[in-house]
Amino acid sequence: MIVRKSFHFRLKTTKKQARLLDEQLQECRWLYNELLSQRILAYDELEISLTKIQQLMFLPELKIERPGLEKVHSQVLQNVVDRLDKAFNGFFRRCKQGQKSGFPRFRGTHRYNSFCYPQSGFNLEGNELKLSKVGRLRILYHRPIEGTIKTCTLKKNATGSWDVSFSCEVDVRPMPSADKSIGIDMGLKQFATFSDGREIENPRFFKQAEKALAKTQRQCAKLAKGTPERRKKGKAIAKIHERIRNRRKDFCHKESKKIVNEYQYICVEDLAIKEMIANSSFAKSIADVSWNQFCRYLSYKAEEAGRKIGLVNPAYTTQDCSRCGHRELKELSERSHVCARCGYQTSRDLNAAQNILALGLDGLGITPRSLRL
Ligand SMILES: [Zn+2]
Repeated sequence: MIVRKSFHFRLKTTKKQARLLDEQLQECRWLYNELLSQRILAYDELEISLTKIQQLMFLPELKIERPGLEKVHSQVLQNVVDRLDKAFNGFFRRCKQGQKSGFPRFRGTHRYNSFCYPQSGFNLEGNELKLSKVGRLRILYHRPIEGTIKTCTLKKNATGSWDVSFSCEVDVRPMPSADKSIGIDMGLKQFATFSDGREIENPRFFKQAEKALAKTQRQCAKLAKGTPERRKKGKAIAKIHERIRNRRKDFCHKESKKIVNEYQYICVEDLAIKEMIANSSFAKSIADVSWNQFCRYLSYKAEEAGRKIGLVNPAYTTQDCSRCGHRELKELSERSHVCARCGYQTSRDLNAAQNILALGLDGLGITPRSLRL
């Protein structure tokens, strides 16, 4: 089975290279805004919708108008046209489905942070990335690239450093099938509780980073706007965010990998539904990001390995008794489950995980729900 995988690495750039990359990024941003205003004008004045092809054909003319575009590889420019087109398609699709939908926006200096070589213009030689019109950049490898590289995207971080990510086509083979299945409840107290009673603790760095972040933000707020001190603090905040992101990614990769290695059927709550019914709080908003990431990794790793994911509607997974199905409302603060009908006692999260397992297997057609007492 061929799947798409991304490989991200930090780049080591000289000052001159960073400036060249930045110039290219700004040219791409200019082009994006220009193409967007073309679309708006065409619609307002002529009532026509410009297509991707029409905008691609207009590129040579724009290059005459703005010589800076010549500094950028032509396929990178074409990719900008493609990006805007995707933004519009997404907008129209969401409108059609009646969802809330933001019209594609003009991008300010800090609102455009990447550009992509969709086919060529880049070359990988050992630990050097040769980029057309930029030069040779050092890649800091932390894992080997697999498969065939399809695209190469350069991304500028808030701290000013640059990353590269390669999207690759990888031929993966399913793992030998496992006979165990598991239900996973994601919560605020524990990161996850398994239906067999095991737990994944919330990683300590969430709390630590949250504290560090709050402190630096307070310090930053006290400094006058536009001063070098404030800019410095701003960078420090961006660094903390970056550290959180990296550690979270690492954590989610490790934990999802372990689960996929062990279980054939993996049942989790459908987070898209959970988000709609859950109350919002700061702690939850942080957890949300990690749960989403964790579930994303889990589902693509499961697919590669030939495992099955059972998505469960989270409504009532905490309320229902996993032994007898008796439904009784629980307060958020109630940490245990005591069934008034059958007397089953366990922790709130474990009961939920057991429900998730049963519902998930049911959804996958593995065990009929009627088998439960
Ligand atoms: Zn019961």
